[in-house]
Amino acid sequence: MAGKRKRSSNKAHDAPSRSTHTPRPPRPPRQTPPKPLVDIYPQSQSLLFRLPRELRDIIYADIFTAPRTIHVAYVGGAKRRFRSFLCRSPSEEQVERIRPAGAELCHSCTLRILHYDCSPRDKRDGTRVRATTTREERQRARVGSMLRCCRRVYDETIETLYTSNEFYFENPRSLLELPRSTPQIRLSSFRHLYLQSPVWDGERGDEEILRRWGKVVRALEKMDGLQTLRVILRPLFGLTDERERLAKPLVEARLAVEPRILFAPFARMTPVVWADGGCCRAALSG
Ligand SMILES: [Zn+2]
Ligand SMILES: [Zn+2]
Repeated sequence: MAGKRKRSSNKAHDAPSRSTHTPRPPRPPRQTPPKPLVDIYPQSQSLLFRLPRELRDIIYADIFTAPRTIHVAYVGGAKRRFRSFLCRSPSEEQVERIRPAGAELCHSCTLRILHYDCSPRDKRDGTRVRATTTREERQRARVGSMLRCCRRVYDETIETLYTSNEFYFENPRSLLELPRSTPQIRLSSFRHLYLQSPVWDGERGDEEILRRWGKVVRALEKMDGLQTLRVILRPLFGLTDERERLAKPLVEARLAVEPRILFAPFARMTPVVWADGGCCRAALSG
């Protein structure tokens, strides 16, 4: 039957039809049988969900544990308020991870803790992280796609996403905004956090900067499951008074874990000469 139709169809293509019906244009030959538009299967048929939960958890841990620190930035866009990016530095080279508490960073290491190249920047204001996403960025965001694929996957993985990763808040405002859109149960799920203070210039609007920094630290109190907290304080010159005033909210706060503080002065009154000719890493090995 199909063969007959095909032959007559070819004829129709070569010569005018003798049929009394209105001639139709020939159909292109079908390569494959048509597929139904959507296949919907019950969740019980899913290979993933037929595995025991212990095995699924191993798979989830592999997918949801990032190989590097995750940068979180408040972007305040209409579609998305936050964006996140994998750090480009290997963990063992991250200055804020490897310096001992209380260390003062040299100029070169201070540049490295800014992680400027780890996040795409706004063209007009390079200090801001770009709020819009490119197609390529959306295609790479596979963790987000999996979280959104169904309620059950979300419920089984969201805790792993928070508890098994390290997060870096380079802009303190991001931490200030986070509790406004994140339920307490998720804030309690954070385990490992890196945070920078604002640069305190000691003169212009210093009280306002300290007041906002105090609010950021109070937001930190809500993360009551923290196990690691490293805070990089940004005094202007690193003078004792500047350090103490930036550290005061941390000392007074009720935090889940004692913060490990590093100092990264914004400017230097006198150039420091490190033993290896340019980096505070020499102080570690010396
Ligand atoms: Zn980074
Ligand atoms: Zn250094």
